Amino acid sequence: MTDKHIDDNSINQPLDLYSDESMVNARVSEWYDRVTSSLDKCPFCDLKDKYIIVEKDGVVLSVNLFPYIDGHLMVIPRRHIEKFEEINDEEWHALKSLLDTGIKIVKDELKVENTNILYREGGSSGISLRHLHVHILPITPEFMQYHKTHFIWEFQKLEVSPLKMAERMRKAVGRLQG
Ligand SMILES: [Zn+2]
Repeated sequence: MTDKHIDDNSINQPLDLYSDESMVNARVSEWYDRVTSSLDKCPFCDLKDKYIIVEKDGVVLSVNLFPYIDGHLMVIPRRHIEKFEEINDEEWHALKSLLDTGIKIVKDELKVENTNILYREGGSSGISLRHLHVHILPITPEFMQYHKTHFIWEFQKLEVSPLKMAERMRKAVGRLQG
C-alpha cells in the first residue's frame, strides 16, 4: 500500500489530471471539479485499456479513475448512450454479467460484505458524465452512514491508485475464472 495523499498547497500547482496523485485525491479535494470542467470530449468513449478489468460484448468493467472509495468500479457500455432505455439486449446481458463479476471481486478483494449499485440519469441526478455508467461501490461504515432521517456518503481517502486497483481486480477475475 502506498500513501500518496497530497497537502493543500499542491492544489495550486499545475495539475496532471490523470496522475496517480490526482486520482487518489480528487474526491477529497476540489480536484474532481477541475477534472470535469476541463474535459473537451467524453472520456467514456475513449476508455484506456490500463483501467479496464474485463470486457464482454461491448460492455466494460473498469475501475473508477476518481473513486469515492477504494474498490469503486464501473460498468460502462462502449457505445455512447445516455439513457437506460437505450441499452440493447446484448449489452443488457453483458452488463448483468459484469455487475455479477464486479460485485464478487469487490467483496473478495476488499473483504466487504455489502455493496451498492448506483445508476443515475438526468442532469440533476448527480451525474458528472452523461455517457451511461453503473457504479459498484463497496460499502463500509465510514463510507455510508445511515441516520434516522437521511444517510450520508462520505468520499474516502484512498490507499490504492486506480491503476494498481485495476491490476488487482484483473487478477481477481483471473482467479474467478480459474
Ligand atoms: Zn461517451
